[in-house]
Amino acid sequence: MYTEIIRLNGGAEDEAAISKAGGLIKAGELVGMPTETVYGLAGDALNPASSKKIYAAKGRPSDNPLIVHISDWDHLKPIVSEIPESAKLLADKFWPGPLTLIFNKSDLIPLETTGGLETVAVRMPIHPVARALIRESTGYIAAPSANASGRPSCTTAEEVYEDMNGLIPLILDGGPSDIGLESTILDLSDSVPELLRPGGISLSELTACLGNIKINPAIDGVLDPAQKPKAPGMKYRHYAPKGRLIIVEGARDKVVAAINHELMKALSTGKRAAIIASEETANKYKGDIVRSIGSLTDESEIARRLFNILREMDKLNAELIFAEAFHTPRLGMAIMNRLIRAAGHNIIYV
Ligand code: AMP
Ligand code: MG
Repeated sequence: MYTEIIRLNGGAEDEAAISKAGGLIKAGELVGMPTETVYGLAGDALNPASSKKIYAAKGRPSDNPLIVHISDWDHLKPIVSEIPESAKLLADKFWPGPLTLIFNKSDLIPLETTGGLETVAVRMPIHPVARALIRESTGYIAAPSANASGRPSCTTAEEVYEDMNGLIPLILDGGPSDIGLESTILDLSDSVPELLRPGGISLSELTACLGNIKINPAIDGVLDPAQKPKAPGMKYRHYAPKGRLIIVEGARDKVVAAINHELMKALSTGKRAAIIASEETANKYKGDIVRSIGSLTDESEIARRLFNILREMDKLNAELIFAEAFHTPRLGMAIMNRLIRAAGHNIIYV
């Protein structure tokens, strides 16, 4: 299949591109869609055949549910069995935006879209192209991240092309994603709200709005950094570069010394090694491949660049990658959650 990329520029001609994309989705096809979090692989959420195509294109296990994207509050009611009061409070504050809420589903949403679950994940994106595309299609777009399963998510149309070329007919290029990390997921299907994935909306923002929130124990990166995980390496990798990624945790000077030490060892065995560092420390490393992810004083930049840097590591054929930890105040939990999973829990504490 030929994969077309259409660059959008905010002008009147965007309408034709969005209408073409909407037509494809209504016909059961998939489209690469820009959103403020990461690019999505968009299909009609009400069409079981479209959801099956999404799983096939990503190579994603069919029990891993998709997020349904809506553009208007009134479109929520038909797809859920009830709307809890907490959802109204949260939507009032954070929708449209990077927050996904989980509800008990209605019969309108097929089980193919929810990976066989009786619950449905719903998000209302703020990106104007995503919103226009939802309105141009059936009003319900199922869209997981547009990466091939297991790889880092895509934050540009070019990255979607890398993973989806030949598999989907169209990618809408809306420029780089603003946030660069997937949405926060909060489960409202039970009596106490439960955080399932940290993301663009922080835990403290949610707590300020709702009060008590449970944290799912399977979330990585929420532990005190000093507390070592009980079973390192037990969980499968996700968001992962091809090389072996190792996070080095500890006081800044010790981290720099430890990474330089590990680097020398790697180079002496002929391994191609790379480093992911903050702007503040990047010039302290002796390796050839040192990438600054941004300043520790600009956590939005670190979040925006994380997946892009992980993908760059593949292009550089890095066999070993050492990364600093980035426990920034608001987005640190989400950043570290992705980094720890990308590293398959490979962490050196110094
Ligand atoms: P992605 O679209 O790639 O960000 O993946 C969607 C995420 O949403 C996955 O981690 C799913 O497990 C999660 N998700 C979607 N629907 C549900 C649901 N009904 N219950 C729990 N998690 C969900
Ligand atoms: Mg994903």
